[in-house]
Amino acid sequence: MPTFQVAIVGAGPAGYFAAQALQNAQNEDKTFAIDMIERLPTPWGLVRSGVAPDHPKIKTVSKVFEKIATAGNFRLFGNVELGTDVQLTDLQAKYDAVIIATGSSLGRKLGIPGEDLRGYLSAADFVPWYNAHPDYTGVDVPLDTDTAIVIGAGNVAMDVARMLALEPSELDPTDTADHAIAELKKSGIRKVYICARRGAEHAAFTSPELRELPKLEHTNVIISKADIDAAIIAAGDTPEKDVKSNLDAMLAIAEHVKTSHERTMEFLFHHVPTEIKGTDRVQEVVFKTPAGEKVIKAGLVISAIGYEAAPLNGITYEKGKVLNTEGRVKENIYVVGWAKRGPSGVIGTNKSDAAAVIELLISDLKTPKNVGDLSDLIGSHKVITQTHWEAINTAEVSSGEPLGKPRVKVADKTELLRLGGL
Ligand code: NAP
Repeated sequence: MPTFQVAIVGAGPAGYFAAQALQNAQNEDKTFAIDMIERLPTPWGLVRSGVAPDHPKIKTVSKVFEKIATAGNFRLFGNVELGTDVQLTDLQAKYDAVIIATGSSLGRKLGIPGEDLRGYLSAADFVPWYNAHPDYTGVDVPLDTDTAIVIGAGNVAMDVARMLALEPSELDPTDTADHAIAELKKSGIRKVYICARRGAEHAAFTSPELRELPKLEHTNVIISKADIDAAIIAAGDTPEKDVKSNLDAMLAIAEHVKTSHERTMEFLFHHVPTEIKGTDRVQEVVFKTPAGEKVIKAGLVISAIGYEAAPLNGITYEKGKVLNTEGRVKENIYVVGWAKRGPSGVIGTNKSDAAAVIELLISDLKTPKNVGDLSDLIGSHKVITQTHWEAINTAEVSSGEPLGKPRVKVADKTELLRLGGL
């Protein structure tokens, strides 16, 4: 029975679901040997470094990833970077198929003056900072201000606003990076604005996330009822199901009795940012609103307006995505997840997306190459295998136990390698 070798680059949800689709497609005619390459010493991608730490339920999908990883025909090559430790052309030569699953790690730019000021940053830097991503521990997040502005009306903007507006002790039982909890406890921020450039009927939030907000124990959440009334009219008599559900959730917040907490998260609609002003530090943001120009003073501005894929050598990109046709890139290269379709959809979206690409990939296969694998390419490089990762995982979970946390994440690469036994 022929065994085809497939390399998956990127150990996030899209990569794991691609592996799962390959595993599910095995039959008496063909099997697959799957090698997953990940540049960090830890797998799970956005499930580890993107999902908000106060959303532990979403992270339980990691159990599915571990099942895929231990299914028998899967090897993890962590701490191996494509373009540095191994080249795409080498993978192409060794493997029957190469799947790019590297996501979208760069924050989109607003393209307005002031984005270079201290105190302005992208969610693409802030989120991995609070999630202990090894490459983002040094991000400068100045929290010595009373007001923060989050730009964008999607779930990332909401995660960011919530993380800034929460009473930080609520993060103690989570796996938020220790350095972030320490900084957030010193934070002077008491008012967080979340600014949408269009009306509430166009917001990209999803309703379960909105419905959670009134449950925040130490934060007032404010939405103007007039804004939602206007949005309900603008949405018309037969709004789409998701829009209706969002507007219902926002109306419930607007009608929620305000409490007297000192922390506030307020939604502003029809606020188009035109300039971020300050001398050497962000001081205010200028917005265009239906009532004219409006200036809001703030010392921290975080944009959460979408992502673009970081370029890989030898791959063509268009509009922040890998140029592809239904997941086919060129020769034996394929792409899945955000790198393929752009930064949209929840984790589960990657399952059907990957399954469709794997179907095409399988239809392209002829006879296995059988010319070796990644092990021949990386020599004595320190590779985090599944066994090493399991040691890291156990160590992190064990250090979380006495503190009532799901884990204490290690953010230092050398320490991660040491915990893995390397
Ligand atoms: P998103 O859902 O696409 O939202 C991006 C937001 O940025 C939109 O409101 C968009 O407004 C706004 N925007 C874009 N360009 C702008 C500009 N120049 N100025 C002002 N606003 C601008 O993206 P995301 O929040 O990054 O989330 C990515 C995906 O991950 C989404 O599918 C999301 O649901 C998912 N996610 C899910 C969860 C969860 O399930 N809990 C958590 C995080 C992320 P316009 O509509 O006007 O363009």
